[in-house]
Amino acid sequence: MRVTTSEGGSQGRGRNHPQANLKSPSGVMALSLLFAALACSGGAQVDPGFAAMRRTMVARQIEARGVRDPLVLKAMAEVPRHLFVPADIAGEAYEDYPLPIGEGQTISQPYIVALMTECLALEGGEKVLEIGTGSGYQAAVLGRIAGEVFSIEINAALAFRAGSTLAELGYANVRVRAGDGFFGWPEEAPFDAVIVTAAAPEVPPALFDQLAEGGRLVLPLGDPKTYQRLTVITKRGDKPRTERVLDVRFVPMTGEIEKKKR
Ligand code: SAH
Repeated sequence: MRVTTSEGGSQGRGRNHPQANLKSPSGVMALSLLFAALACSGGAQVDPGFAAMRRTMVARQIEARGVRDPLVLKAMAEVPRHLFVPADIAGEAYEDYPLPIGEGQTISQPYIVALMTECLALEGGEKVLEIGTGSGYQAAVLGRIAGEVFSIEINAALAFRAGSTLAELGYANVRVRAGDGFFGWPEEAPFDAVIVTAAAPEVPPALFDQLAEGGRLVLPLGDPKTYQRLTVITKRGDKPRTERVLDVRFVPMTGEIEKKKR
């Protein structure tokens, strides 16, 4: 870890005034470097301010709206969401709205991430497929609960960045692949649960096929240009059960699914 010392300060007076240097710009720089180094070394736990924001977020935005699954609440209280959004808006990471993550995409509002995760009804140890990695935040939340998470992102730049963030934070059970999630991840099928975090006008057939018997598929189903119904489909032999949970608005699923437009 490299921390600027008083000698290294640009004011050039540190040697004789070490205390004064604490207030100087170089002293401030030293402190911010220290915090940056802690954040990069997996020091997400060393963030009492952000941890308090997370607790408030869980209580006011998530529990207050009816999410009760203790595994989901615990994961939402643990994952450092501020490290998945661009640094200049990290201070807004725990607010009650979606945020831009670059490439014209967004990270969902915390409540929606929690609700979709609860809809998967995970108990721990499952194999989960996510379509639409984006920032990697939803994948990290899943990684806290499930055994293994496989996440596909169609935008290569986002896939690369999310993969790096997850690796830096130590999410060894989450794998990210750049590609079109329409086709799923056949080599790893079947999955106990599948989650799609982009708006789909119809259920991509491969995703239903790659779902294990009794497994759940959660996706925003409907017109990508207006709004969708957050839908839970449970695979039960020939008669899948479909439940509609809430109206939502997601960015559109792109790629193969768009070719099917008439
Ligand atoms: N779950 C993300 C947010 C998803 S935003 C998070 O936690 O940050 C929706 C993402 O779906 C975008 O990044 C978009 O590029 C991606 N996407 C859209 N169509 C896709 C497809 N066919 N396959 C995989 N990813 C897709």
